[in-house]
Amino acid sequence: GKKTPRGSGAASARDDGGTIHRVHVVVRLRPFSVRGETGAAAVVFEQAKSTITVTPKDEADRGNFRTFALDGILGPDAKQTDAFDSVRDTCLSVLDGVSACVMCYGQTGSGKTHTLSNLDGRDPSQNGVMPRAFQALFDRIDAGEEDARFEVSVQYVQIYMELIQDLLDPVQNVSLREDSSGRVFLTGTTTYAVKSWQECVEWFTAGTKNRTTAFTQMNAHSSRSHAAFILTVIKHANGVKTTSSLYMIDLAGSERTAKSEVVGVNFDEAVAINSSLTVLGRVIYTLANPKNKIRPPFRESKLTRMLTNVFTHGARTTLIVCCAMGFDDVAETNSSLEFAKQAMNVKVREMKNEEVDYYALAMQLQQQLDSQTEAVQK
Ligand code: ADP
Ligand code: MG
Repeated sequence: GKKTPRGSGAASARDDGGTIHRVHVVVRLRPFSVRGETGAAAVVFEQAKSTITVTPKDEADRGNFRTFALDGILGPDAKQTDAFDSVRDTCLSVLDGVSACVMCYGQTGSGKTHTLSNLDGRDPSQNGVMPRAFQALFDRIDAGEEDARFEVSVQYVQIYMELIQDLLDPVQNVSLREDSSGRVFLTGTTTYAVKSWQECVEWFTAGTKNRTTAFTQMNAHSSRSHAAFILTVIKHANGVKTTSSLYMIDLAGSERTAKSEVVGVNFDEAVAINSSLTVLGRVIYTLANPKNKIRPPFRESKLTRMLTNVFTHGARTTLIVCCAMGFDDVAETNSSLEFAKQAMNVKVREMKNEEVDYYALAMQLQQQLDSQTEAVQK
């Protein structure tokens, strides 16, 4: 493959088999004050250069600053619209037949849920990426595209301790299947057709409610599970049917379990949480370092297995890495930025999931037949 230059507009290059995209990585810094933190910030950033520098926690170590270069930085003053602007193109690519993934990574309390899925009935300016994406997608669909028809449906699952649970229908038993072309998909989930962005919001709200009621009895605290909202678009245009999905994923907290914020986690749970995020890290690392010729371990966790298509079937991906800025969080911030740094090197070849639209063809034939019959009858 070719080397791709850094920078938002330039993150793709043409190759024989289609465009190659690099995974796009944006870091969002949570405002220092919202959780009552005081003192100096350990994190400084340079917007123009898209770099972040982390000061070591230890006084003795104060010479060892670490600097990371990203595709974009959303500083503590960044607005929710700025966050959406950094993922808008990724989200809208599902309307062009290209699957997409927006994923929030970071320790608990770093702003993942606020960034991705915040819903504020009174102050929509505080709405996160998801409601904005629903709106942008349906704005485009409702504006109409010549000769194109769209069918949109949604699924919402959580992955907890290597079990996939249907948040829209908690009694369902969900699993993953693979088709002959190696595409991995969910089976056993309820899929709901949606006709407006408001309906997407309704399903999202209902599922999130289930997440905090039905599943807390099972001790599945949201910071320890991954939530994935999947919006699938089937586009019929010019006799071709393309199917593409937008995965919006609020990952489990990436903190190491020794940290006080995750007290009450039992050993099995700790291992399970760590294993799926660890496997995600290994998948990213393997994909970022193809020279090592190691097969990415997609199959080793439910999360990465579900994401197989995202990395092998040409999805556009934007990773939002959320970080706190305080000295107490320096270890987690460094480890999150290390993850970000690896993800910066992952390249994916864009692919469309196209097939002949037999239904459209049949309709077309029927129309021709009808008009011929009419002509004969005249
Ligand atoms: P996470 O999902 O990573 O555990 P949250 O999104 O729940 O973290 O954020 C933790 C707290 O900080 C919440 O009260 C949230 O409203 C607040 N918060 C996070 N990011 C921001 C931000 N950019 N602006 C204002 N408040 C924020
Ligand atoms: Mg959260």
